[in-house]
Amino acid sequence: MADQEKYVVVTGGDRGIGKATALRFARDGFGIIITYASRRDLAEETANEALSSGASTAMYYQVDVSSWDSVSYFASQLSRTLPYVNVLVNNAGIIDYSSLEDVDLERWRRVIDVDLTGPFYVSKALLPLLRKAPWASIVNVSSIAGQTGNVVAGVAYVAAKAGLIGLTKKMAVELAKYRIRVNAVTPSFVETDMTRDYLSDPERRRQAEALHPLGSIAEPEDIAEAIYFLAIPQLSRNITGQVLGINGGRYT
Ligand code: NAD
Repeated sequence: MADQEKYVVVTGGDRGIGKATALRFARDGFGIIITYASRRDLAEETANEALSSGASTAMYYQVDVSSWDSVSYFASQLSRTLPYVNVLVNNAGIIDYSSLEDVDLERWRRVIDVDLTGPFYVSKALLPLLRKAPWASIVNVSSIAGQTGNVVAGVAYVAAKAGLIGLTKKMAVELAKYRIRVNAVTPSFVETDMTRDYLSDPERRRQAEALHPLGSIAEPEDIAEAIYFLAIPQLSRNITGQVLGINGGRYT
């Protein structure tokens, strides 16, 4: 029946953590809606994989999460297509390694716009669809860099990801009246395009591994499982406003 369908929106679902997350929900029969920044080919591939993995439907949209026009147009397209959205995963993001002294002002703004303002825009624009769902939750993909400054990421990324934790906590309190839960995950290093260059240097990789008492760098699927746990009421129905570290014991 249509009203029993479950839908998840994953921003930046074309690759990396977003792709693994979309496929995790696909295995549970969700309808999958992914957004991508530029790689339509990857988005199409992920949508096809989602359908083969059990998704009830799979759609992909090009959205720039840092643009209110782009995000609100996406929300209006979705509201014509779907009855509601159960889960929003604010995953899209960009990295930056610049220090306070070196960071270019444009770059600072870009990182804040994508990594912090993006999740705010998408949550705001999709709230009407989340409110229509029989149950709903939001999971924000922050970072260990939002919890400690002792990371290789730069000032803009650390500030954006810390801001996203604040946004998570405030939205959790505000949206509790609609029974919408809001949580965040904070991964340490994960093997994706974002970290590929950094970790391609064997010495840096060894140092990165050594930071984690469990001794290894996470795979996107490790993060996807934590996101799934926080999203699904059967697993976490009394958890909201929380930050779940997936960091191999690096930050406790
Ligand atoms: P990735 O580079 O593989 O994926 C980033 C995704 O964001 C892509 O799908 C891209 O399409 C999307 N994106 C980028 N800019 C966008 C924009 N302006 N509008 C819409 N979409 C945009 O990286 P990933 O590692 O899979 O990163 C996913 C999330 O996980 C990010 O928020 C990142 O900060 C976070 N994270 C990653 C790591 C890591 O080590 N890889 C660690 C902690 C947190």
